Amino acid sequence: MKKYYGMAAAAGFLFLVLLTIQVNRVTAVTPIKNLSIARSTTQTVTSATTESSSQTSTEYSEDAQEQAAVSDEVNEDDFPTVSLNDWSLALVGPKNKIVSEIAQEDLGKLSNGYLVDKRIFSAYEELAEAAKVAGHPLVMVSAYRSVEYQQEIFDANVNSLIRQGNTKEEAIRITKLTFTEPGYSEHHTGLAIDVIDEDWYQNHTGELLNEGFGVTDGGKWLQAHAREYGFIIRYPKGKHDITQIDYEPWHLRYVGVEVATYIEEHEVTFEEFLDEAKEHITRKEAELSYHELADPLQEDWIFTNSLTRNQENSQRAQEELLMSGGDLFAKNVFSQTKEVKK
Ligand SMILES: [Zn+2]
Repeated sequence: MKKYYGMAAAAGFLFLVLLTIQVNRVTAVTPIKNLSIARSTTQTVTSATTESSSQTSTEYSEDAQEQAAVSDEVNEDDFPTVSLNDWSLALVGPKNKIVSEIAQEDLGKLSNGYLVDKRIFSAYEELAEAAKVAGHPLVMVSAYRSVEYQQEIFDANVNSLIRQGNTKEEAIRITKLTFTEPGYSEHHTGLAIDVIDEDWYQNHTGELLNEGFGVTDGGKWLQAHAREYGFIIRYPKGKHDITQIDYEPWHLRYVGVEVATYIEEHEVTFEEFLDEAKEHITRKEAELSYHELADPLQEDWIFTNSLTRNQENSQRAQEELLMSGGDLFAKNVFSQTKEVKK
């Protein structure tokens, strides 16, 4: 009788080993897109099994994260959690007309007299203070502009061109080259500002808002540090196709520190960031409905987590799994093995 127990145990173990190999193969080809699902459900596994298997889950999770960083454009680790309805992520530009203008009571006057959205008041004052300390005191050229004001300066330019002999059509066409059409300027949001530094203001001859500012010490300082206060250089060089606007090293836009850091570190435009955010949100929603529909404990990758994909630890993990009695088949093998050893 003992002989049969021995054979059964041996067959059981062989099955378990083969299963582990199979599971490891599955893991190696699991598409990274499933990563977020696997990671978030790790908690379910942890609470249902022993501490040791939760450690192996973490190991799996970290390995998978490394894979994600290499093979997926969207970095799962540092992508900020955002809501597209967030006030700081409002998109207004040549292709996105402002939906509703900021209320007058939501505007705040900066110490330099310019108006911005009250909520970015302290962020700007802190940026200005840091710039001053670094030796690049800022000079503001423009901040909040109402649609009405934009209309006034737009019309004034059109009229001036008509007086110079252009037809009305021609005057509008030329004006659009340098003035944003009313309703389409980011300055309407109260979240955009145009700034240069004192040195450029005092010593540069010609137009103040010139891309040459970008290569000055002040321009470089803004490029490197504005993000720390929640601002991005909204129209980077070479991204006209996406932003519809040429490089403007002076035009800063508030998006919050976390988003600004992501955008600048990954060298993406605000538009590209919003597209990535939409993808993340869609993926998260899919993940939520997945949890509602399926019993995650039946999934292969959960088993992978329990057994671990690390070959070195696989024997230890199997033994721990046997000890924990988490799996009926394994438990059966374990009890039979014990009998053989008596
Ligand atoms: Zn601007």
